[in-house]
Amino acid sequence: MEEFGKAAVMVKPGKLEIKSFERPKVSEGSMLLRILMTGVCGTDLHMYEGRMPKAPFPLIPGHEILGEVLEMGDGSGLMEATGQALRPGDRVVVVPSIACGRCFYCKNVPSRPNLCENRIAYGISMSSLNPPHFFGGYAEFLYVRPGSTVHKVPEEIPNEVAVLSEPMSIATRALERAFMPGIPYAREGFGLGKSMVIQGAGPIGLLILLAARIAGAGDIIVTDMEDYRLQKAKEFGADHTINVAITTQEDRVRLVQELTNGVGADVVVEAAGAPQAFAEGILLARRGGKLIEVGHFTDPGTVEVRPYIICNKDLEIMGSWSSPHQTQFKTVLSLFKSFSGKIPFEKLVTHKFEVEEAEKALGTVKEKRCLKAVIAPGV
Ligand SMILES: [Zn+2]
Ligand SMILES: [Zn+2]
Repeated sequence: MEEFGKAAVMVKPGKLEIKSFERPKVSEGSMLLRILMTGVCGTDLHMYEGRMPKAPFPLIPGHEILGEVLEMGDGSGLMEATGQALRPGDRVVVVPSIACGRCFYCKNVPSRPNLCENRIAYGISMSSLNPPHFFGGYAEFLYVRPGSTVHKVPEEIPNEVAVLSEPMSIATRALERAFMPGIPYAREGFGLGKSMVIQGAGPIGLLILLAARIAGAGDIIVTDMEDYRLQKAKEFGADHTINVAITTQEDRVRLVQELTNGVGADVVVEAAGAPQAFAEGILLARRGGKLIEVGHFTDPGTVEVRPYIICNKDLEIMGSWSSPHQTQFKTVLSLFKSFSGKIPFEKLVTHKFEVEEAEKALGTVKEKRCLKAVIAPGV
């Protein structure tokens, strides 16, 4: 068996091994990519720490995948979501999830593919045990199986921006959840000039910040525990930052009130992934405001809330689970195309690692010494 390319395989939580696999056979409807960059996500770290017990080990982590088309099976060009022609050498971002198309959430109108009961995803729920092995982004190659969706990356978008497509799909979806409905007597939520609190200045929080700026937000207040991240939030256009580590909840509620004419934020987005942040978000939103919960992709536990406040504030609370990737990636690439060069998305990518350094990359994410770390075998 001839070795073709390397991958960092998570054989069990806490253990990554570098392995070489043979070249996958491309058949009808499938594609082979040379990976350019894959983002390291907090979800990968949770998997490494054993917080995703259902993960089918061994598997190659990595679901934020940018690659270059190496080989195309017959008909595989149909995977391109917007009907653009694909040929070898083209850059594509891979929609990590594949919905089943058969369950209630896929078939119901409106369809909710992000809630599909049988959703599978590269780097999360596809084992690398059997050929063609390459089902995750921490590798030199990716086998794109039939039924997948890819988007061709416009030339104007550099690799360091394109690799942010998946997290930006989460961020833009969360912001879109906060948009005001089109009912005149219910014009609450996100819109031009509206004030926002973003809890958590990790990659998702910062991408929400950038998306909100593009979408015309008013004052944006960002909270986090790390000065390094708050400094970045300032550079990315936050009007105010609050360090949670050196203030009390009382301080923060008062500060947000002061910064919002004494009423609280129109919209709060919880992107810290801490139960306490959710409880606090209820206090930071104004009466008639909205709270979007996007931070809890895994389950770190519970928190006490006072239902009276939710009732009294006439508050709207909405979850945002993943995104309807197939269409959300189109939104994201359009934004990236229009704003690359004007908004420094690429500054979010602070660290690059080789496939062999995957463990080090996860350590850097754990220590919060970076914004977005990427595995970058192809650049
Ligand atoms: Zn992710
Ligand atoms: Zn389904």
